[in-house]
Amino acid sequence: MSTPAIRLHAPEHQLSSTTDSFPTSHDKVSKIIDTLQFIDNKFVASETSEFIELHDPATNNLVTRVPCSTDEELQASVQSAQRAFPKWRATSVMAKQQIMFRFVALIRQNMDRLAAVITLEGGKTLADAKGDVLRGLQVAEATCAAPELLKGEVLEVAKDMETRTYREPLGVVAAICPFNFPSMIPLWTLPVATITGNTLIVKPSERVPGAAMVLAELSRAAGFPDGVINIIHGSRRAVNFILHEPAIKAISFVGSNQAGEYVYKTGSANGKRVMANLGAKNHAIVLPDCGKDHFMKSVIGAAFGASGQRCMALSALILVEKTKEWLPELVERTKELQTNGGFEPGADLGPVISPQSKDRIESLIESAKQEGANILLDGRGYAPDKFPNGNWVAPTIIDKVTPSMRCYREEIFGPVLVCLSADTLDEAIDVINENDYGNGAVIFTQSGSSAESFRRRIEAGQVGINVPLPVPLPMFSFTGNKKSIAGGGANTFYGRPGINFFSQLQTVTARWSRDDVPTQQEMAMPIL
Ligand code: NAD
Repeated sequence: MSTPAIRLHAPEHQLSSTTDSFPTSHDKVSKIIDTLQFIDNKFVASETSEFIELHDPATNNLVTRVPCSTDEELQASVQSAQRAFPKWRATSVMAKQQIMFRFVALIRQNMDRLAAVITLEGGKTLADAKGDVLRGLQVAEATCAAPELLKGEVLEVAKDMETRTYREPLGVVAAICPFNFPSMIPLWTLPVATITGNTLIVKPSERVPGAAMVLAELSRAAGFPDGVINIIHGSRRAVNFILHEPAIKAISFVGSNQAGEYVYKTGSANGKRVMANLGAKNHAIVLPDCGKDHFMKSVIGAAFGASGQRCMALSALILVEKTKEWLPELVERTKELQTNGGFEPGADLGPVISPQSKDRIESLIESAKQEGANILLDGRGYAPDKFPNGNWVAPTIIDKVTPSMRCYREEIFGPVLVCLSADTLDEAIDVINENDYGNGAVIFTQSGSSAESFRRRIEAGQVGINVPLPVPLPMFSFTGNKKSIAGGGANTFYGRPGINFFSQLQTVTARWSRDDVPTQQEMAMPIL
């Protein structure tokens, strides 16, 4: 029995920001407006009575209330996507490409607005928030190459017989996103899932939904038809809906291991394709022959940028031989960083996302002390004068860390760098390979043979050689290894693997012969 069609009759609303008018400070928001949903190309208010309060991490002032979409609203989003699918899949790739060109241009025009929303809701500095927008925009730009990426193959496999391949869409697909890249991570999925002919439901993080809502507005202005992109909100219940809704054929997830392993297991058990990027502990090995100044600058940016809340943040250093003597200088240079509200000029890093996150980070710093590590720089207890109530943790450097300590085993996801030491490169590689996570690993050295030996042995998806955040541009794919990616890393975001994830390979073998003389009845498997 099919579910009766649900159409929401709520009047359409508009977003509070525009291309030219958006937040510019951490001042109290004068009128709290609830976050809207985006269903069938319309912004609709939720009928729910269940809201999640979203506070500015720099002040803890209320910014908006995020609705937990009702069952009816969740259903309405799926039905909208289902209605849109037949026409969208039949739309030529060239027509879709034109929409993507306009989408790309609109994101560029709205870069400052998107960044401002990210800074207000998530705490990043404005400059870093622009990077968040840019790295997502690059995925949309690379996806404009779809006519090339979706081209099939053809081969004459026997006389008068050829096999060709097609990449067909899957149907309705969904994206479940984390808080730390409010624009980039929705854009890891949105362009790829739609250009391949699918219709999409996005569930942004309930902690930072604003950027995804702006992207929805831009997608409509770019010409995406009704129902191709829908946005719903909530946390566990919305995720469970996505996991169990039969019409949803594939799910992309980015977030913690706790949620992601559950999403991968449940989604896969329900017969869906699932791609899930999870937690991390990213290491840098420092060899004595490296360019010391470059190493210092690189590590400080990669460890403390975005307050360490990047899945590729450099959170563990392994200092080989005499490089451990460089730590006092690293500490002095780190002290120069300004931890402040993201809208403040000169801010290098902002607050962490929530009071709970701050407490967790502080307890991990304390555990390091209790377990015998040496805290060289302690960022606890800091608050800028202007924002005494924010979730502040200033840069922290911990030395004499060993692999058994909690601060090393667990992902801290804060501005905390843990430092270990090793006598040789091989010993350092062994330590990294024994760690549960394998998102990124980096080496600083001037030696080509050391770099190559590291590259061959290291168990990490994204490897950097004198590059601190080796995230590939979207003509490649965002990989991972071990516990940092579910399903052994078979599915990865964007690039050709992303196109493959969001499409079904179909082969057609055809025989076209002018002299179609009946041949002898074949009973065995044909061998030619
Ligand atoms: P999170 O797991 O708390 O949330 C991610 C999504 O899952 C959200 O949409 C949330 O609503 C949902 N969710 C949370 N708990 C759930 C539960 N119990 N059941 C079902 N759904 C649930 O992650 P976060 O704190 O928003 O993001 C930070 C994490 O994401 C870090 O671990 C970071 O390393 C990881 N991350 C990984 C990558 C990567 O590419 N490997 C990229 C960015 C972030």
